[in-house]
Amino acid sequence: MAEGRLAGKVAVVTGGASGIGAATVRRFVAEGASVLVADLNGEAAGVLVDELGSAVAALVTNVAVEADMAATVAEATDRFGGLDIYVNNAGFGGALGPIAETPVEDFDLTFDVLVKSVFLGIKYAAPVLCEQGHGVILNTASIAGLRSGWGPHLYSTAKSAVIALTQSVALELAASGVRCNAVAPGLITTPLAFGRPDASDDQLAAMRVTNAAAQPMPRAGEPADIASMMTYLASDEADWVTGQVFVVDGGINTGPRWEQFPPAFTRHRPIRHHRPPGR
Ligand code: NAD
Repeated sequence: MAEGRLAGKVAVVTGGASGIGAATVRRFVAEGASVLVADLNGEAAGVLVDELGSAVAALVTNVAVEADMAATVAEATDRFGGLDIYVNNAGFGGALGPIAETPVEDFDLTFDVLVKSVFLGIKYAAPVLCEQGHGVILNTASIAGLRSGWGPHLYSTAKSAVIALTQSVALELAASGVRCNAVAPGLITTPLAFGRPDASDDQLAAMRVTNAAAQPMPRAGEPADIASMMTYLASDEADWVTGQVFVVDGGINTGPRWEQFPPAFTRHRPIRHHRPPGR
């Protein structure tokens, strides 16, 4: 019998072949889970299977395609004997540029990959989880879904939709013992954040330096930071937590670095204020 915070559980992680998804797969397996990696990139998913062994299987999946998403639930159940955790994590940057220059086809593709995918993952996982009376759905949102300026227009819009879907569905599923939460990462060192799926190690290292300098906690965010939150939320430790958005961002969405505050706020001086006479 496996040991760990997720001992004996079965998970599906979409977009599990790279970045945040791959770190989540590694942590889930280290905590005793079996994981189906559902990713468009079968080659990268295969590398993860070779690394982690029989606790991991891969299924080439396009998260925007309904039949593919239905197949992830069937495959996890057939291969590992059940389903406890479904992580809707696959994503990309989507449409870029000014709103008036954005083709409708780019809107559709962005929403298919970032929003329809989450709808489909929940649509097919929820009946299995509700029927057994327990289970966890996790959706990777973004700080871009909470505040403008962290991503292009449609990426921000899509991640806001992921948060709204998470909260609404959590209320439907709560009485069945199924939890549904979102994680909102900040700037995490991955190919997506660099803007190219084929980003090299050197390019990611350079981005790490830039990101470290940008946020209140002076180090870059790593996929493992998000995997830690995913692991907590997937575990029984979070048994009474649902319908929430958990920001993991080194403080960047809260505000600027302390040294970027106006000097008038950060230098200590005696308070000057009106005192009543005689006091
Ligand atoms: P990544 O590029 O490292 O990984 C994304 C994975 O999704 C890849 O393996 C890719 O093959 C897969 N994928 C893309 N489109 C797919 C599709 N249609 N079907 C199946 N798989 C598909 O990126 P990441 O940064 O790890 O991104 C993971 C999630 O985190 C995304 O939802 C992203 O929006 C979100 N996120 C990332 C950051 C960041 O700074 N990296 C910040 C906030 C949110």
